[in-house]
Amino acid sequence: MTLGAFTIWAVDHATALVNLYRDRGEAVTRHDLQELVRNYGFSEDEVDVADFAWLADDLREVFVHPSRATRVERLNALLDRYQPTPRIVQHDSQEPHFHYVTTGPPVDHVGSSFVMAIANAVVDQGAERFGWCAAPHCQKLFFDRSRNRSQRFCSRSCATRVHVRAYRARQ
Ligand SMILES: [Zn+2]
Ligand SMILES: [Zn+2]
Repeated sequence: MTLGAFTIWAVDHATALVNLYRDRGEAVTRHDLQELVRNYGFSEDEVDVADFAWLADDLREVFVHPSRATRVERLNALLDRYQPTPRIVQHDSQEPHFHYVTTGPPVDHVGSSFVMAIANAVVDQGAERFGWCAAPHCQKLFFDRSRNRSQRFCSRSCATRVHVRAYRARQ
């Protein structure tokens, strides 16, 4: 893995945003969002649930189709839409790193940051690294960090659940 800490963090949180709306839909609250994007420093009053639903949908759409060409094409469309603008920043005694700034509302700020992180992950690791959990009734989006690109489940608990069921079925 050559991805930077920020990219890994943002990719994890971008997939979590997609999965949050997938699981909760209209029940997503400002509090859920504020918790998820806590690092950006927005208050609950600033994050708009409907705006973030659009962002979650934009991100989900990138990966709906398994083909690399489609994923790249949709990601390019999001780079156009969110227009991430890199700035090198230093804070909290961290090494200099990029932030992707925008003057728009929080969703634009988070969107440009997430889109840029996903773009970096795709360029560095391949569009196929993003997958959908194979467990029935889960189907969460995940970013495969396994060495041999063999991840099929979003989490250990989903993998265990499916393997236990398969084992029982053989008894
Ligand atoms: Zn930073
Ligand atoms: Zn799962």
